[in-house]
Order: sequence, then C-alpha cells, then structure tokens
Amino acid sequence: MSKRFGGLQALSEVSLSVSSGEVLGLIGPNGAGKSTLVSCITGVLRIDGGTIRFKDCDIQRLMPHRRARAGIARTFQKVRLADQLTVYENVAAGLASHWFARASGWTSVFRPLSSASIAQAVNRTLERVGLGDVAGRIVKSLPFGQRHFVEIARAIVSEPNLLLLDEPATGLTERERERLATLVKDLAEQGCAQILIEHDLELVGRLCNHVTVINQGHHIFTGTPQAAQSDPEVVRAYLGMNQLISGGADDACG
Ligand code: ADP
Ligand code: MG
Repeated sequence: MSKRFGGLQALSEVSLSVSSGEVLGLIGPNGAGKSTLVSCITGVLRIDGGTIRFKDCDIQRLMPHRRARAGIARTFQKVRLADQLTVYENVAAGLASHWFARASGWTSVFRPLSSASIAQAVNRTLERVGLGDVAGRIVKSLPFGQRHFVEIARAIVSEPNLLLLDEPATGLTERERERLATLVKDLAEQGCAQILIEHDLELVGRLCNHVTVINQGHHIFTGTPQAAQSDPEVVRAYLGMNQLISGGADDACG
C-alpha cells in the first residue's frame, strides 16, 4: 500500500499480511503511518498505489461500509463514541453496516438482523468484555478504561474476521490490560485475524508471533518480536524499543 497526503508520503509500498487466527503486531514510532494503514484497510482512506486483498478478493474499490459488512472492523486510537448514548446503543451501532445486508456476493455471510438478534449479539458482547452491568449507562459517565472497552465491543459485536486494534491498551490499568490480552487471545482462537498496534511491547511480545515494523511510511521489518529487538534498523528507528521488549517478555530474555 502507498498513501500520500499532499507532499507527505505517509505509506510507501508497505506490505503486510495476517491470517485467520493470527495476531500481527504493528509497531513503529509516532507518525510512522500505522493509523493511516488501518484507515486504508477499512476504506476510510483510499490508497494511491498497491492492492488490498481480503478473503482472496481485491477490496480496494469497496466503500467502508461494504468492507465492514465483509468482516473488517477497527477500534480508534482516540475513542470515538456517541457520548450521550448508552453503552448498549453505542455497541449496537457496530452492527449498523449489517442491518441492511442483502444475501448476495460479499454480504452473503450475514443475514439481515432482527431486533432480537441485535439485542442478543450486543448483550453477549457486553458480557464478553465485562460491561454487562453498565449496558444502560450513558457513555459519558463511564471511566476511561470502560469507554475503551465500549469501543472494542462496538468493533467485535459484528464478529469480524479481521480486527484492527489501534493502540487499544493505552491508558488502561494493569487489570484492564489483562482483560484485553485475554480477549485478543480468545478472538484469535476463534479464528479472528488481528492487527495490533501497540506501544506496549511487553504486550506485543506476549500476544504476537510476528511483528511488522514501519518507520516514516516504510516497511523495515517483519519477524518475531524477539528478532525485532536485535534488528539494527528497527533499533535505530525506534529508540529504546529493544529495552522495552526485553524488559517485559520473560522468554525473550531466556
Ligand atoms: P501513526 O499512527 O504511526 O502515529 P499516522 O498514520 O497517524 O501515524 O500518521 C502518519 C503521517 O501522516 C503523519 O506525519 C501524520 O501527520 C500524517 N497524516 C495522518 N493523517 C493525515 C491526514 N488526514 N492528512 C494529512 N496528513 C496526515
Ligand atoms: Mg496512530
């Protein structure tokens, strides 16, 4: 994928791939192009060059809602919720792209949803992320960590095949981070492909078999989190990263 904003080459022929059940870490310094890459995959941004393939189909020309319906979901780095609505309503919005799905082509895997099946999916998801007790609360009244999980619930309520998590652990407490880690593992076990953007490299080391590193829009590394820490280009690009990884991942340190 390549993506340019005026004079700025935000992504320059960046390649990555993630399979069903895999959690790929995507790391790189601020401004590397990580969030841009996510927006290109969801279709909010159009790439200028390259290809994006999902389930063996070229999805470049699909509008964002069609990609959502096909099974791609994301969370935002900065939580984007309807603050005045309830937790339940915000999570139900994650199914909006699926409400009017027609049983043809891309959409054939989704059936049109009844209000009963929406309620079932939303309540099940809220339980899953630990928000069952606050379904009726106005989002604005929730503490930061819980709002973060509302954002995640909205992304996973549609049972996506590809989940793009843009720095989901930022600002979470230790307990919340563990809850997030468990959720990511569960989703992977169920076959969901995930791209995890995360500065907390201890978490990346635990959840991801592979990481892709980008810097200033360029792909510089794909390999294990452990190999990343000794890659000279990665270390140069991401000062202090090797310390962060080895500081947390016990098995990486032997
Ligand atoms: P990261 O998520 O890795 O921190 P981003 O993808 O947010 O990086 O940004 C990559 C580069 O693209 C940055 O220099 C940023 O300022 C620029 N950028 C991101 N979005 C836009 C946009 N909509 N218009 C112009 N420049 C943008
Ligand atoms: Mg970002």
